[in-house]
Amino acid sequence: MTYQSIKHILSNYWAVMANQKLAMYKVASMMESKDSDDTNFLWEEHERLRNDFRRRNRESTTIIKPDEFIEMDSIKPKPAFSYLDLKVKIAERMFQNCNFCEKACKVNRKFGKGDCAVGDPLISSEFLHVGEEPLLVPSHTIFFSGCNFSCVYCQNWDISQNPDVGIFMNEKDLAKIIEKRRIAGSRNVNFVGGDPTPNLHYILRTMTKVSENIPVIWNSNMYLSEDAMHILDGFADVYLTDFKYGNNECALRLSNIPNYMEVVGRNHMMAQQAGEMIIRHLVIPNHVECCSKPLLMWISQNLGLEVILNIMGQYRPVFKAHKYKKIDRIPTSSEIGEVIRYAQELGFNNLI
Ligand code: SF4
Repeated sequence: MTYQSIKHILSNYWAVMANQKLAMYKVASMMESKDSDDTNFLWEEHERLRNDFRRRNRESTTIIKPDEFIEMDSIKPKPAFSYLDLKVKIAERMFQNCNFCEKACKVNRKFGKGDCAVGDPLISSEFLHVGEEPLLVPSHTIFFSGCNFSCVYCQNWDISQNPDVGIFMNEKDLAKIIEKRRIAGSRNVNFVGGDPTPNLHYILRTMTKVSENIPVIWNSNMYLSEDAMHILDGFADVYLTDFKYGNNECALRLSNIPNYMEVVGRNHMMAQQAGEMIIRHLVIPNHVECCSKPLLMWISQNLGLEVILNIMGQYRPVFKAHKYKKIDRIPTSSEIGEVIRYAQELGFNNLI
């Protein structure tokens, strides 16, 4: 696919990146919300504003100046309590009975850890990444330590499987770095890991302190809970997803993740409604027939043929892959070629 056609499909991202439109978190920070101590009320208010936000976002294509927003009803430059503050408040409650992801450990993470073993948000590195998809670079990529998956072949295992490495930064300091990187030329801020999901509350809080306008990329395995997906709706401009498997058995065996297709499939459909999306699929050796092909078929039937799809061939047998005979090698060029050919036969129009 051409650079121009990606630009057309990611038109919201492109407009925010070029400062012709406000990022979702900016709009959310200007929408006034009612506050309460009652969690049920907070969710009801969130649902009301989520629908309102969607309508506004559809209608407004070129709004950048806050002044223009003020003229629209119920938009204020600095409301006492905003839709973004509401998201933070709900996420902080979720954190105390954690269901950020579908594992729903229900631990109070102020005092303990759940299955992902993530405690304080720790950042293993942050820099202007030039190795992402062409339209995204340079991308200010922030790598969090820890993950809710434990893939035996994890390509980032040194950070994903070591949630205690990295440095803690308070939200204000991280916000300053995001601003500094934006001024230095970053096209977006890209939250990844491991996985960003266990640090959802912290990421939201950080973005309340960012004054620059910048597209937010949620770069994830997409195993979030439905509640967490609702919180991201109206916050993340682009979902950069890692869609790995085409069946539940491989997901359970290689990542120790149950109900993979139901959860990750549902979340892709929600993400498609909420923002823009690039789907990455890493070709795993000997998993073309059981994973790549059924997955591509699923995507074609449930997300359509216009999705941006990046079929990646850079799998390396790292971490514990040597214990699993079938995946203890790099994929062959014929395996990668077969997956690409299958995607073309299905009729995907936007293959990277
Ligand atoms: S992020 Fe997921 S795995 Fe981690 S504590 Fe919360 S629910 Fe559990």
